Amino acid sequence: MSTVGQDRPDLLAMLPEEVDALFLDIGLPRYRSAQVVEWLYVHGARSFDEMTNLPKSLRETLSKDLTITNLQTLKVAVSRDRTKKFLFGLTDGAAIETVLLPEGERSTACISTQVGCAFGCLFCASGAGGLARNLTAGEIVDQARKAKFDADAGRLTNIVVMGMGEPLANYEATTKAVRIFLHERGLALGGRRITISTAGFVPGIRRLAADDLPVRVALSLHAADNRTRNKLMPINRKYPLEQVIDSCTELGRRRTPLTLEYMLIFEINDSFDDAARLADIAHALKAKVNLIPYNPVPGGRYRAPSEERVLRFQARLREAGVLAFIRRSRGTDIDAACGQLRQSASREGHG
Ligand code: SAH
Repeated sequence: MSTVGQDRPDLLAMLPEEVDALFLDIGLPRYRSAQVVEWLYVHGARSFDEMTNLPKSLRETLSKDLTITNLQTLKVAVSRDRTKKFLFGLTDGAAIETVLLPEGERSTACISTQVGCAFGCLFCASGAGGLARNLTAGEIVDQARKAKFDADAGRLTNIVVMGMGEPLANYEATTKAVRIFLHERGLALGGRRITISTAGFVPGIRRLAADDLPVRVALSLHAADNRTRNKLMPINRKYPLEQVIDSCTELGRRRTPLTLEYMLIFEINDSFDDAARLADIAHALKAKVNLIPYNPVPGGRYRAPSEERVLRFQARLREAGVLAFIRRSRGTDIDAACGQLRQSASREGHG
């Protein structure tokens, strides 16, 4: 429940009813916790000091016994397409990334769940240095708050858990944060507006399938046969496609439709045969497919296919009766793909 290096309970890691219970425990009336929770999720308060309808003495007591995670903004980059990327510093000196994707008056936040990643997918910058640690629920929740209360956010309507890390490998903190996003006294978002993206961590998928969270799930498939997937995503050697597909079938029993993310890499996974195999998996899982042209990372060994090749791959899927969309990378001028800002910041000596 506490943040790293602190033993005071973190309010951002608690459901509103847990804050109520804690306040009752320390002898405070229910309306006080109602006020505090409202400060956190309606007004975006970063400290008890900002909660001006609480008596000063109470604010002082609360800040002695409790904490509110407050990520430090180390760097902000804004892209020509309005994509805004934040590099946040944690109390132990680590840094994580959060991306705000504005679209008209609304926006989506893309949030991280781990410092680094243990999975080491060959195309991804986040896992290049391995896993440092899991984020706490409070650190995950504060990313969404920082995005929601950013001046450029408009109305934050969607959250995608697709930043650094594997969310289902940090299951407790991630699902706790998601419950706060869904809570009517929290961010009050609908389950269809929250997407958890997984590289195919089967124990996590099975746990989520048994859980009651009404969120969307995206599977980062990226290859439709074990040989290719083993090469791109080492996690596939431990949990091969058959198991991944099987666990996703369990997910399908709950009403949320599955999305398959498929990154197209030139001459690695973008052939006609790949499209046919992908179509079979999409049909088996009743999933739609998002095609993402590979976004080259510094020092990376892969290339993105041409526009024409991407369109042909999509056409092949559509001919096979699969719902397939092409997703353009956003913010490429500001290193907005996974782990790239942190990577370039550490080259510049930040984190
Ligand atoms: N671990 C989770 C969530 C984080 S990665 C997962 O794997 O889904 C979020 C998405 O970005 C994944 O689909 C991932 O494969 C993709 N991604 C990573 N590096 C990329 C790159 N260089 N170009 C395009 N997409 C990339």
